[in-house]
Amino acid sequence: MTSSGGAHPGFARGRRLRSTPALRRLTAQTRLSPADLVLPVFVKEGIDDPQPIGSMPGVVQHTQDSLRKAAHEAAEAGISGLILFGIPADKDPVGSQADAADGVVNVALQQLRADLGDELVLMADLCLCEYTDHGHCGVVTPARGQGGAMVVDNDPTLDRYAAVALAQAQAGAHVIAPSGMMDGQVAAIRRALDGGGYTELPVLAYAAKYASCFYGPFREAAEGAPQFGDRSTYQMDPPNADEALREVAQDLAEGADAVMVKPALAYLDVIARVADEVRVPVSAYQVSGEYAMVEAAAANGWVDRERAILETLTAIRRAGAGSVLTYWAVEAARLLRR
Ligand SMILES: [Zn+2]
Repeated sequence: MTSSGGAHPGFARGRRLRSTPALRRLTAQTRLSPADLVLPVFVKEGIDDPQPIGSMPGVVQHTQDSLRKAAHEAAEAGISGLILFGIPADKDPVGSQADAADGVVNVALQQLRADLGDELVLMADLCLCEYTDHGHCGVVTPARGQGGAMVVDNDPTLDRYAAVALAQAQAGAHVIAPSGMMDGQVAAIRRALDGGGYTELPVLAYAAKYASCFYGPFREAAEGAPQFGDRSTYQMDPPNADEALREVAQDLAEGADAVMVKPALAYLDVIARVADEVRVPVSAYQVSGEYAMVEAAAANGWVDRERAILETLTAIRRAGAGSVLTYWAVEAARLLRR
């Protein structure tokens, strides 16, 4: 059988199980399916047509109507859920539109829940950066003893997050996903939800969210770039991995039902360590910069786009993420079914 006639016995032949596509499929350790995927979507107030996002080819800021259409397509493709980000027409220092009943995301949640019922998991990203005029994830205040420099004020922000969580729950979210990286945010949100009677509504915590350059294109998409400073005082520092486990443990102690690592591809080690450590579902967010890099390279003919999509998603699953938030969710689902 062997082409070399057995001239070199005595070593393992890994190639035996790679010799046909069917054998490779049979022995694949990691599987990727449409059910693993969640699509992030942007819905913008005050536009008549979907607006393309230059740095994210193929991704748009939706109108309410185009979002409803996209949601139906997502359900047909077989993915598990959507995570919603809103861009309001009016921004202010405290992000009032985030918890306004007629705020852009809350209207979208109501409509999608009415359209789709429980067919897709509707996740509400909970943060203030798309809603504040300064672009930070919380309310800001002059720092004590720092010559009037503005800082994001942790505890008053928790009160805002609690109000937003209740508004999102009332609008029909299936999952509340706080992404602001304020200390104590999960406890504050859990308390608010329980107090409002939403004891059964789960919290997916962005537990280990790093201050990453790979969010660049998202800032164009969500129109939430900070107007001063950056997010390094609240998001995690890229060199740290042990700290991710501490953040995850704290969020679980505060009542998180599932946790997320963000970004994904540059933090596969963190995903793997978190997945080893905890016994709750672990998600990872393949962020806008990860998407943009592959799209740009593919547009230049430098990588095979479809293979890059599936290979990166498989890598994130292999690292230990049970589900992946990705802008390719619907397309990848179609590729997987092909
Ligand atoms: Zn934010």
